[in-house]
Amino acid sequence: MRHDRSIELAPSVKPQFDYETLSALPEWYVIVARCGACGHEDELDRRAIGRRFGKNVKLVSLPMRLRCRPPCGNRVGNRLFLRKLGR
Ligand SMILES: [Zn+2]
Repeated sequence: MRHDRSIELAPSVKPQFDYETLSALPEWYVIVARCGACGHEDELDRRAIGRRFGKNVKLVSLPMRLRCRPPCGNRVGNRLFLRKLGR
């Protein structure tokens, strides 16, 4: 099932969004990662990503740098979504 307020970030297709880097992403977007193995979804902490990878990290490069939480630990096929914050 798709979340209609989500934008998928997929490195293999032309990005459907205008925000290439973390620093360009408006604050009202939440970055959500979904594991390709177990389907676990988690919101990412933008500030933590900024500290770890730098503010200018390309968003499409994030999925392959992420790892699912234990015991899954999967790093393959993970996907990122942008979700607009509700108010
Ligand atoms: Zn997983």
